[in-house]
Amino acid sequence: MIVLKNKQEQAIMREAGQILAEVLATLEKMVLPGVTTLELEEKADKMITEAGAVASFRGQPGMTVNAPPFPAATCISVNEQVIHGIPSNRVIKEGDIVSIDCGVTWRGFIADSAISVVAGKADPDVDRLVSVTRKSLLAAIKTALPGRHLHDLSFAIQSWAVNEGLGIVKDFCGHGVGRSLHEDPPIPNYGKPGTGPLLRPGMTLAVEPMFNLGTGKVKMLKDGWTVVTADGKPSAHWEHTLLITDGPAEVLTWRPGEVEG
Ligand code: MG
Ligand code: MG
Repeated sequence: MIVLKNKQEQAIMREAGQILAEVLATLEKMVLPGVTTLELEEKADKMITEAGAVASFRGQPGMTVNAPPFPAATCISVNEQVIHGIPSNRVIKEGDIVSIDCGVTWRGFIADSAISVVAGKADPDVDRLVSVTRKSLLAAIKTALPGRHLHDLSFAIQSWAVNEGLGIVKDFCGHGVGRSLHEDPPIPNYGKPGTGPLLRPGMTLAVEPMFNLGTGKVKMLKDGWTVVTADGKPSAHWEHTLLITDGPAEVLTWRPGEVEG
């Protein structure tokens, strides 16, 4: 069941989104050769706590029986890691893609957003992967109008991957978000236009394309969390939480100074 948010709930989610946006904007600047993923995690955790909010990801149950609850405020996934990487003492090197996913709970409501940043100078293919994945998210945002179907967004995302010869990760998808981190509807990163639920004002959606330089196939590491590309090639991930309105979608997690387009 898709839960619509009333004006008051929307206002709270807008605040959650802004707290999260500040966190990710700060981390974006910290992604440089020499930083560890744990240093990024600690900064995020501190900022969330100082804002009086709660890190939504910590304690999330794993998908497999023996996976422990997620131990951190951020998922940090490097290079061939797609999503759900656990922060560690790993030192970021020149040219690494660092995908940072974070969720913030504020007065009972969650915002969810992710960025992919290259540390230092990027290989041209990696640069294209990161920028095309982001462009597909922006295309989905433009498509997120009331009366359109959900899979119109999915198709907008898919089109970018197909045109650029990138692999689409199909085993994971976006989702509704609100009181819970994962609400209905699932939002696949591929699909047929004109299908899926109708978009209605008050829906809050976490849209999150994940593209790979190789195939879309992925596997999970033994830690029960980290998802990596099956062929070991790089992956990128971008995510925003959107509010469907009477007009263009409102992006609740725009970062300060983020340039649209
Ligand atoms: Mg996320
Ligand atoms: Mg998400």
